[in-house]
Amino acid sequence: MSSGIRFDGVSVAYGSATVLDSLDLTVEPGEVMALLGPSGSGKTTALRAVAGFVRPVRGRVFIGDRDVTELPPHRRGIGMVVQQYALFPHLRVADNVAFGMKAQKVAKSEIPGRVSEALEMTGMAAYARRYPRELSGGQQQRVAIARALAIRPGVLLLDEPLSALDAQLRSGMLAELARLHRELPEVSILYVTHDQVEALTLADRIAVMDKARLQDCGTPQELYRSPRTEFTASFVGNANLLPVRVGDGQVRLGEAELKVDTAGV
Ligand code: ADP
Repeated sequence: MSSGIRFDGVSVAYGSATVLDSLDLTVEPGEVMALLGPSGSGKTTALRAVAGFVRPVRGRVFIGDRDVTELPPHRRGIGMVVQQYALFPHLRVADNVAFGMKAQKVAKSEIPGRVSEALEMTGMAAYARRYPRELSGGQQQRVAIARALAIRPGVLLLDEPLSALDAQLRSGMLAELARLHRELPEVSILYVTHDQVEALTLADRIAVMDKARLQDCGTPQELYRSPRTEFTASFVGNANLLPVRVGDGQVRLGEAELKVDTAGV
């Protein structure tokens, strides 16, 4: 299923505090959009509005051409992965992956095949009978990704999926996510992070957030060449981190030579 995401004037408030202010943003089908910004800027809130875990006080959320604003999470066709894996400790890996499908009412006969397929995709097929406590943090996160993929979502929501991992695992998982994106070109990905390197490596476009508002949005090169705000310039303005596409669609950071236009800053 191929479906983009559209925020149409979405605001979220807790009590009197507006934590997401009039967000207008479109993620195209098959695109990776990073929501990049400091802690507390409203990134997770935006992602949770797509998932259906928070209700906007204003605005609408669309997945594909469906207005999902009033739909419960399990009817939105989304897969979601959060920072702390959130696996059920008492269930084996295969049963953890199957769990989401049961909630989605996938036919029972289809579940084992889909579990195997998702575990294959994430390199975890050999661990199907293990319990989460027998796995490393990186392996648990792979299982969480497999669980999200098994429902064959049109939209994948990733909320700081690498931030609980150590630096070495993180770069390995980043490459894995880039590979999955190439293998699933029809799935739109909304990727919440406060980490420039993750955003620049993985994202087709970056939406820069600060203080509950969208500050800027564009490809890494666009944001670097002509940042609309000083905040974007400070958050993205590092030429050594610009992505360079190398063979086989892979991305390496650095060595980009660009002319900078800060006229509008
Ligand atoms: P980010 O993902 O950018 O770190 P969040 O979207 O998690 O930011 O949070 C934005 C703001 O909303 C923060 O000030 C946070 O404290 C507040 N917030 C988030 N969730 C809740 C909640 N359930 N109740 C009250 N305030 C919340």
